[in-house]
Amino acid sequence: MNRRKLVAANWKMNGSRALADTLLGGLREQLAGLDASVEVAIIPPAVLLADVSKQVVGTSFAVGAQNLSQWRAGAYTGEVSGDMLKDAGCQYVLVGHSERRQLFAESDEVVAAKVQQALQAGLSPILCVGETLDEREAGKAEAVVVSQVRAALESVAVADMLRVVVAYEPVWAIGTGKTATAEDAQRIHAVIRETLAGMGADANLIVLLYGGSVKPDNAAELFAQPDIDGGLIGGASLDANDFSRICQSFTD
Ligand code: PEP
Repeated sequence: MNRRKLVAANWKMNGSRALADTLLGGLREQLAGLDASVEVAIIPPAVLLADVSKQVVGTSFAVGAQNLSQWRAGAYTGEVSGDMLKDAGCQYVLVGHSERRQLFAESDEVVAAKVQQALQAGLSPILCVGETLDEREAGKAEAVVVSQVRAALESVAVADMLRVVVAYEPVWAIGTGKTATAEDAQRIHAVIRETLAGMGADANLIVLLYGGSVKPDNAAELFAQPDIDGGLIGGASLDANDFSRICQSFTD
């Protein structure tokens, strides 16, 4: 199955205009010959979106945001809407990242509302799902992931499902240096694809990413798995060399 490949750089709350300048300069140079089947998305903090959007003009890089409001517009001081992100040049937006679920108490309901806002604004939500270490040790990894996928996407029209990207990010692997084995990640990705198919989506066309301590030395094995279409990269995306090498890790 020839799905598009995607590698997304989640800078989290890191960076500055100067860093964006240096990083994007490095990426433009190092990824100039990247295979056209691999899409690269840069996901900086919100205040850098305008700068990054300008800097990607003339490249094939897409731009994404790390969060959006669950509401469309109005008296929600401090919030940024999906429409505003679209207007700022975004194509993607992360929804339900585990840091937001854990540190900002985002429930499945809020995540589902954000998915809807992203879609109505014409953005592709990158829905993040994944189990904690306790859930994994209790043998609940698959059940947790399936329930997060269903809760976030149950109100999405089947046709819109193709605009959704799902990132499997085991919480215990994010920023810890621990990675799921390629076989284990593949198993959960296959479960996610089956779940999407069970919801009526054309699941073979939906892009699924793995995230959690992806580095240049483990990316190739992960990306070679049949249901893993790329990665959501945190720490390693702040280094132009490492991130470029990860983007170049597809073997077919
Ligand atoms: C992430 O933030 O989505 C992530 C996967 O981080 P890291 O690559 O640093 O584990």
